[in-house]
Amino acid sequence: MLILYKKIPLWQKIFCGLILGLIVGLIFKEDALIFKPLGTLFLNLIKMLIVPLIFVTLISGITSMDDLSKMKRVGLKTFFIYIGTTSIAISIGLLFGYVFKPGVDVAISSQESIKTSNEALSLVDTLLNIIPTNPVLSLAEGNILQIILFAIILGISINLAGEKGKIVSNFFNSFSEVMFKMTDIVISFAPFGVFGLMAFVSASYGADLLLSLVKIIACVFIASIFHMILVYGGIISLYSKLNILTFFKGILPAQIVAFTTTSSSGTLPVTTNNVIENLGVSKSIASFVLPLGATINMDGTAIYQGICVMFIAQLFGVELTFANILTIIITSTLASIGTAGIPGAGLIMLTLVLTSVGLPLEGVAIIAGIDRILDMARSVTNITGDAMVSVVVAKSEEEFDERIYVKA
Ligand code: ASP
Repeated sequence: MLILYKKIPLWQKIFCGLILGLIVGLIFKEDALIFKPLGTLFLNLIKMLIVPLIFVTLISGITSMDDLSKMKRVGLKTFFIYIGTTSIAISIGLLFGYVFKPGVDVAISSQESIKTSNEALSLVDTLLNIIPTNPVLSLAEGNILQIILFAIILGISINLAGEKGKIVSNFFNSFSEVMFKMTDIVISFAPFGVFGLMAFVSASYGADLLLSLVKIIACVFIASIFHMILVYGGIISLYSKLNILTFFKGILPAQIVAFTTTSSSGTLPVTTNNVIENLGVSKSIASFVLPLGATINMDGTAIYQGICVMFIAQLFGVELTFANILTIIITSTLASIGTAGIPGAGLIMLTLVLTSVGLPLEGVAIIAGIDRILDMARSVTNITGDAMVSVVVAKSEEEFDERIYVKA
């Protein structure tokens, strides 16, 4: 039995976990909640990896590019593709919201209290908060944006120190190899974790709630799929001249983990593993592009914000002007950069976008009821975007092994 289990490819095992979890949750309802600890165990294991993995791999990614001009080039490329695809994502979200009108004819009986509305930070605070006044505290608290900034500055400083910084640089390189191995161990547990998480989600959301808001759920899911196939698929096949099916197959395990954990940061270990081992991206590019992406590149969140803004405007009968739309595009891009890669963060940032155009925050309460479901779609899109950028950047930097990609 064990030998047979070992022979099945990991992505198939994770996929089985997903389907079985869904079925068990729907059939056994509350009784299926006994499987939740399996999911929590898996979540805790990946949480254990996040801080050291981001910190160490980002530094080793930067020190592996000791040529300063290369680092600048890769950094700029990564940043611009991230911002570009995010703006497209918001526009797609707004367009879907406009065309499919998910907020028209929705009868909501009970509204939940809005507990999230005052948790959003202002944009200036978000930006100022990125600077770690005490890096050790940032590591201990797991403040990802601060850890990233510190890792980038430390990585650049190691490079600037040249020969004298070699010992520190070797230390982080070897540490990152160790972290990759630890990631492999944790990922082997993914099928069980995904099963537990899925059983919990399908048992806790009755079909009734989902049906009343089926239009907005369908809108977010279809727009996300549309964005992934058209924008990511388009860039992969037209710009990088690679087969898109191979890309999606290679990243599938990470997509399933993102779908069930609803956390891009939590999925980072699996995303990193998939792009290196299935898609042929070099460790150096993956270590640089992915931790950044898991924190600042949130196309799924941007799509969701676009749709939700339209949904709320329609629900409350508010007409949006052209200036409103422009404001939404700008604030959503910034908000999605400031969104942490953790479950439900997009909902909190939504209040920021709504406030920017004066839409009623009450709308957030309605969305809160189904946010976990919407978060599944946006987290999958978020990590797929990161993976796409890592492939594109690796290919353009000739840090890409096509033999591995073809085999995925
Ligand atoms: N859960 C999402 C992620 O981790 C962020 C969000 O809530 O939009 O990517």
